[in-house]
Amino acid sequence: MRVGIVGGGQLGRMLALAGHQLGLVCTTLDPAEGSAASQVAPSIVGAYDDRPALASLAETSDVVTYEFENVPVEAARFLAAQVPVRPGPQALEAAQDRLNEKALFGELGIPTAPFAPVDDLASLEDAIERVGLPAVLKTRRLGYDGKGQFVLLDPVRAEDAWRAVGERPSILEAKVAFSREVSVLAARGLEGDVVAYPLVENRHREGILRLSLAPAPEATPALQARAEGFARAVLERLDYVGVIAIELFQVGEELLGNEIAPRVHNSGHWTIEGATTSQFEQHLRAVCGLPLGEATARGPSAMVNLIGALPDPADVLAVPGARLHRYGKAPRPGRKVGHVTITAPTREALEERLARLLPLIPEA
Ligand code: AMP
Repeated sequence: MRVGIVGGGQLGRMLALAGHQLGLVCTTLDPAEGSAASQVAPSIVGAYDDRPALASLAETSDVVTYEFENVPVEAARFLAAQVPVRPGPQALEAAQDRLNEKALFGELGIPTAPFAPVDDLASLEDAIERVGLPAVLKTRRLGYDGKGQFVLLDPVRAEDAWRAVGERPSILEAKVAFSREVSVLAARGLEGDVVAYPLVENRHREGILRLSLAPAPEATPALQARAEGFARAVLERLDYVGVIAIELFQVGEELLGNEIAPRVHNSGHWTIEGATTSQFEQHLRAVCGLPLGEATARGPSAMVNLIGALPDPADVLAVPGARLHRYGKAPRPGRKVGHVTITAPTREALEERLARLLPLIPEA
C-alpha cells in the first residue's frame, strides 16, 4: 500500500521508517527542501495549501494521513475528495481550535480546567472574573509547545497578556496545580477496534516536553481505566482511524483533559523500543486497515528529548539501554533535533541509567 503523509518533520520520518519495514511506500509532503522525512522517504516539496502538490500526493497514495494537526481543513477536504484521509478532517477541526476541543471534552463528560472564551480585552476582563487567577491565556488556534500562551497572575497585566497572544481569539484557562502531567495514546482501527497504551508521565519545561516516563510510575488501574475511557470516547465520537494522543493533567486521582493531538505524539516515542508495537507502526496499521498490534509496555522506559543541540553520540550510546534517534534537522534553539529512549529491566535500573544519561544532554 502507498501512504501519503502531510508533513515531513520527525513524526513523518519515524512513520516512514516504520512503514518501510512493513513494505509500505510512504510519501511525505512538506514545504521545506531537505525535511527530516525527505531524507528517508520519497517526498514532495510544496505548501500545505498548494493544490497541485496536494493532488500529486493524492495520486501517489492509496490513503493519506498527517503528522501535525495544523493541516488546513480545506486541504484535508480536497485530499479526501480523491483518496481516503485518515483520521478524517473532522478530527482536525476538533483539535485545531482549543475552544472546539474544550467543547468536545465537555460533551463527552471529560472534565477540564475552568475556562472562558476571550475575543477582546473586555471579554478577557470578564473571563478573569469568571475563571479566577492564576490563569493561562492561550490562542485558540496555532499554539504549540507553549507558544501563544501567557500566564496571568495579576489582573493589571490583562493588557500585556492580550498583546502577548497577538490580540487573537483565545481562551483563558485556570492554571491547574497538577500533581503531574500524563498522556494517553490509543489507536482505533478501520473496524472500530481500540487499543490503548499505558499512561505516560510527561515533564515539560518552558511549555516543551523534556522527559517522558512509561508506563507512568504509580498509575493505578483506575487511573489507567479512566484515561482509556476518555480516549475511547473521543475516538468514537470523531469516528477516528489512527493513533491519537490526549494530554491530561493529573490532580490527585482525577484527570483533566488539556489537549488532543490527532496524530502520533512526542510522548509516544518510547513505544519504538518500549512497547510491543510502536505508535508509528500502529498508526500505519490503522490507516491501512491492517489489524492493530498489542500496545503493552515491554518494561519501564524513559524518553528524553534533544532540544536545540545534540549530545556526543558515543557518550549516549555508552549508557546501557540507551537508543539514540536523530532527526536530520539542523540544531536551532528550541528545536527538537532528536530523542533518546532508555529501557531497563526494572524501574531502579531505569533511574540509574537516566541519572547517567541526563548530564550528557546539552540544555539548549
Ligand atoms: P499546551 O500547549 O496547552 O499543551 O500547554 C503547554 C504546557 O503548558 C502544558 O503541557 C503545561 O505544562 C502548561 N500548561 C498549559 N495549560 C495549563 C494550565 N491550564 N494549567 C497549568 N499548566 C498549564
